[in-house]
Parts: sequence; structure tokens; C-alpha cells
Amino acid sequence: MIISSRPEIKELIPYEPGKRIEDVKKEYDLDKVVKLASNENPLGPSPKVKEKIKKHLDDLAIYPDNKSTALRDRLSHEFDVPQEEILVTGGSSEMINLISEAYICKDDEVIMGDMTFPRYKQTTIMMGGIPIEVPLKDFRYDLKAILDSITDKTKIIWICNPNNPTGTIVSNDEFIDFLNNVPEDVIVVSDEAYREYVTKDNYPHNTHELIKDYPNLVVMRTFSKVYGLASLRIGYSFASEEILGEVNRIRSPFIVNTLAQAAALEAIDDKEFLKKAYDVNVEGKEYLYNEFEKLGFKYIPSETNHIFVDVKTNGRELFNKLQTKGVIIRPQKENYIRVSIGTMEENKFFIEKLKEVL
Ligand SMILES: *Cc1c(COP(=O)(O)O)cnc(C)c1O
Repeated sequence: MIISSRPEIKELIPYEPGKRIEDVKKEYDLDKVVKLASNENPLGPSPKVKEKIKKHLDDLAIYPDNKSTALRDRLSHEFDVPQEEILVTGGSSEMINLISEAYICKDDEVIMGDMTFPRYKQTTIMMGGIPIEVPLKDFRYDLKAILDSITDKTKIIWICNPNNPTGTIVSNDEFIDFLNNVPEDVIVVSDEAYREYVTKDNYPHNTHELIKDYPNLVVMRTFSKVYGLASLRIGYSFASEEILGEVNRIRSPFIVNTLAQAAALEAIDDKEFLKKAYDVNVEGKEYLYNEFEKLGFKYIPSETNHIFVDVKTNGRELFNKLQTKGVIIRPQKENYIRVSIGTMEENKFFIEKLKEVL
């Protein structure tokens, strides 16, 4: 190649999303395909949100509010956090990029779990940092081992809580104790994409209250999962003014569009819909646990909308077979798969096809 790109990006490969429903239908000549691969809300968004979006169609020619003022104001009231400590971004994905771009210098070390959301590692490599992947312990983030991995070069620690793909959590006491032991010049990011699905009460639900005591903490949340707005690309973070100030220096303007801002505002208010999404998830989870037990499969009890399952055969092979039957799941390493919890109808279709291919 004549044109040289940054050497750091040479080992990165483009993101490969799972096949789309339409493609699988075509490829295997199927009428019905169920996708349980990307942890989306099977109910879609709240009907109120859909109505709200229609009201903003005339705004499309106008650049959106770059500061998402109304939404930040709403979040400020909801969580009792000053607006200056809230940032709205194009999903958590944009925030992962921004934190990485603003802080990771060449050869900085960045710590994460060894089975977790892959984007933390990619942005680390992209910035010339060194990913330090700390093995999970019993499929959970091992905070003790992470503390032991901190060096003078550590810049960021990513804590995916609950963790994708294993569905496990770090408890409130564990997290506070951890924060008390992390040096103040190391950023701790709590990625809480699935927080609304957590059923255990020892989960740190109030991390937004910790920003004032721990100015090195960043809390990331998203409207992509329980709120069913993955396609609109919107999420929010809490962090100190200092950190958000640095991030804002490099943030592209107008990433979060007007429809997304309006939808998010409406979504926060529809508590009934949230409750329904939570209940459907709990019900589906119990059903799938039960079916896995009958099949003799071990699964990791999940605090999210997906389950990490040992299918006693190669995960990728099972994934391929299920796909020909019209079910898309996510293969994991070795004998594991990750399956998103769908509507009861989708869950039953998945179990039916699973039994067929076994
Ligand atoms: C889905 C997911 C995200 C990304 O969410 P967006 O807000 O859609 O960018 C971030 N972190 C984890 C752990 C996720 O599973």
C-alpha cells in the first residue's frame, strides 16, 4: 500500500455483526427467523416513544441541540446529578471512543475483564495503549486481581457491570471497596448497559451518586437495551466536570439527533413500559433456565437480558446449525453460546429448534 495508515490500527479487524434477519431468510429459504443475538429489546420501544418521534419529523432539516439540553435537564432531575456532570452521546459506543481518545497515550495500560465487551480492547489498541485482560473468576469480574494488575502505567479500568457476555455483576460493597483502592489518577468506567434488568438488590444502582466522591469515576448508560432504541444511537454518562471537559474538546458536534433526544425524553417517563420489559425478561429467563436444565446444560445465572450457556458442543457449530433453522444466537469461545432473552414466543421457537439440531 502506498498510503500509510497509523500502525496501531493494523491488527484491528472490522466489526462483524451477526447476520440480519432478512439475509438469513434469503440464504436458507426460511419464512420465520428469530434473532436472539444482539441483546435488543424484543418488545421494541414504548408505543409512546414512537408517537413522540412522529411529532419531530419536521425538525429533520435543522441541526440537533448539540448539548441535548432538555434531556440532560431531565436526567439531572431523575438522578439528582448536576447537568455539568452529564453527557449525552451516540450510544455508549461513542463514549467508549471519547474516553479512549481523550486519555490513552502510547503504551498506557488499560485494564478490562478477559471475557467482556470487545470494544474496550479495540479502542485501547487503536490509541496505541496496551490492553491488560484480567481473567474472570467464576465468570465474574475479579476486582482483587484487577487491583493487583494496576501499575504506574495504568490509565483506565473498564468494569462492565453487569458483564456482557456472562451476565454477572459486581456488588455494591465490592465496587465501593474497589474504588477506594484505585489510585485517583486512574479512570474507572462503569459500563451499565444492562442495569435496568438487574434483579439482585446488592447491585450498585446508585453509582451516579458516587461521582462527587470519586472524580475518576465515569458511569455509562444507554437507551439501546431496555428502552429499545438501539437504532437511534443514544446514551448518557455521568462524570466529573474535569473528565467531561476533556471529552468535550474532541467530541464531534451533532452526533445525537433530534429524534433520539425526543425519544429518550419520552422513554424515561414511560415507567410502565420499563416494568413490562423487565417482567418479560424475568419470565423468559426462568423459562430458558428450566429448559436448559432439562437439556443438562449449565448456564451462568444472568442479571441481564442474555444468558451465557455451556452447550456441551462447539458453540460456533451450534450457531451455524441453528442459523439454518432460523434462529440467530451469538457463539462464544469453546462450548459456550450467548442467547438473548426474547418474547416467550421467540424463546419457545429457539428451544424447539435447539432440540431439533441437538
Ligand atoms: C450493547 C452494549 C453497549 C453499547 O451500547 P450502545 O449504547 O448501543 O452503543 C455498551 N456496553 C455494553 C456492555 C453493551 O452490551
